[in-house]
Amino acid sequence: MKLKEVLEKTTQFFKDKNLDSPRLDAELLLAFGLKLERIQLYLKFDQPLSEEEMNCCRELVRRRATGEPIAYILGRKDFFGYTFKVTPAVLIPRPETEHLVEASLEWATSQNPEKPFNILDLGTGSGCIGLTLLKKLPNSHLLAVDISESAIQIAKENAEALNVAERVRFVCADAGCLDIDIPKIDILVANPPYIAEGDHDLEENVKKFEPESALFAVENGLGFLRSWSKKFVPFLSDKAIVLMEMGMNQGAEMKEYFRDLDAFSKVDVIKDLASLDRVIRGVKNG
Ligand code: GLN
Repeated sequence: MKLKEVLEKTTQFFKDKNLDSPRLDAELLLAFGLKLERIQLYLKFDQPLSEEEMNCCRELVRRRATGEPIAYILGRKDFFGYTFKVTPAVLIPRPETEHLVEASLEWATSQNPEKPFNILDLGTGSGCIGLTLLKKLPNSHLLAVDISESAIQIAKENAEALNVAERVRFVCADAGCLDIDIPKIDILVANPPYIAEGDHDLEENVKKFEPESALFAVENGLGFLRSWSKKFVPFLSDKAIVLMEMGMNQGAEMKEYFRDLDAFSKVDVIKDLASLDRVIRGVKNG
């Protein structure tokens, strides 16, 4: 069968499976299976596929049809212009999380991006937040914490690939019980698990494929947001910023919680592109 026909058949198959972006998914998977750039598919439309190539693509298509996220099949995901390795041991970086990175950089720029900031990324997962900040803040250092040994392993590989490994210290620990000497923190970032157990709005395939420990939190989803922010207040430098991602219905409660911590001169909520509450921000002496 010619590549063009395989692409069309795959797209139709994904449509029938009700996938969100059938054509794009088909292109990404076939390009991956054939070891081509996506754009090259169009140059090879009339090329017939060998039996071996067909088998390889068939397996990828089968996996996608079960709902497995494209990022896990390809083993990578782009975030803030960088490519991160991902496996089912880590949450797939989300575009919403880019708001948190943007707000951190906006704050750093208002100070001076050349400063040697100390960054703490709690629940680092793939490392997408903290490592992106290191790429953008060339003199800063990162302490990246995650409870999962396999997540730390992925984050380490990402740090190497992005050439920032020498500025990161990785610690495999429960952030809430972290018991090591840490420097004063200038930028505290986290995208903690914040989904309430039994939340019915959660997409089925997120629950099926992504790590449970990266998703759910007690106290109606607020458990980690509360305990992590509270625990690290004493470690904040004079002019620190704290940015944590949260769920779309958690803005009001988190704003109140951050105010009650009595650590920040300014607390506000950053909304995402869909105008939903997404990030809680607290700034000391801001
Ligand atoms: N920090 C990572 C991210 O934002 C992982 C977050 C998590 O596992 N909850 O993607």
